[in-house]
Parts: sequence; C-alpha cells; structure tokens
Amino acid sequence: MPLSGGERTRFMVDAMLGSLARKLRALGFDAAYFKDGTDSELLSRTGSEGRVMLTSDRSLASRARAKGIKVMLLRGKSDGRRVAEIGRGSEAVGVRLVRGDPLCSLCGGELEALGKKDVRGRVPQSVEGRHRLFFRCKSCGHYYWRGTHWKKLRSLANRLGEK
Ligand SMILES: [Zn+2]
Repeated sequence: MPLSGGERTRFMVDAMLGSLARKLRALGFDAAYFKDGTDSELLSRTGSEGRVMLTSDRSLASRARAKGIKVMLLRGKSDGRRVAEIGRGSEAVGVRLVRGDPLCSLCGGELEALGKKDVRGRVPQSVEGRHRLFFRCKSCGHYYWRGTHWKKLRSLANRLGEK
C-alpha cells in the first residue's frame, strides 16, 4: 500500500532508463526523466529540484555524487531488478521511499477516478465491459483501468520490499 504522509520521493531517471521512469510513476513516485540536453544540464536540474538520481552510468553517478546529489547506481538488467535495487539500496544513500497514488506513467500527471459511464466510447468496448473503475490523467488525458497492468504493478511494488 502507498504510504501516507510526507511527500513522494522525487527521482531523476537517466534517459537510458525511460521505461523504469514510467514504472516508478505508476508506483506513485515522482519520476522525471531528461531526454534532451547535456549531462551538465541534467545534473544541475537534478540538484536544483532536489531529486535522487537513478542511473546505470558509473561516470554520471560519480559526477552527480561530486555535486552532492544523492545517487543510486543501478546494475540490474531489467526494470524489475532495478526496482528491487532501489528498495534495497535506498537506506544506504539516505533516501526514504514514499509513494503516493499512482501517477500517469506517460507524463507523471495525477489520475482521476472515473466510472463506467464516464468512459463510454473512450475505451475499447471489451474493456468497458470487464472493468468498473477507470482512471484518466488530468494532464495528458490518457485512460487507465485495473487490468493485467495492475497485477504487474503489484508485483513490482513487492520488489520494493514493502510489507
Ligand atoms: Zn498523463
């Protein structure tokens, strides 16, 4: 279950790990990622926004550390393993993992809950028939529902090591 109280942990995810950023948003973390721009720009934005850097690039990680940015160097080859590393390694770098409600995995926007009648004609009919609760991103308008996606998320949340 998402923890309550305190702000969501804010991550800056290396552009190489874009799919991890999307999963972290769905898990309820604030996860930005930076596609264009130089490493220096990335580091200065991470520092000024007070984010925790997630990268699998050793040299970027040491540059970030030198600037006093909290960094987790991820070695896992899959997002599932990377999520587990975040769960195991957060304490060592002084990061408290705080999740909120799930965010839009595409843009990080907040989701609003909708009923069946709100989504009629906006999601595939087969989906509408099988689900009762839907969500729409307040920022980009993308629709979500509790399907297989949710089960995968639950197993990812388990990998964080939450009880
Ligand atoms: Zn969105």
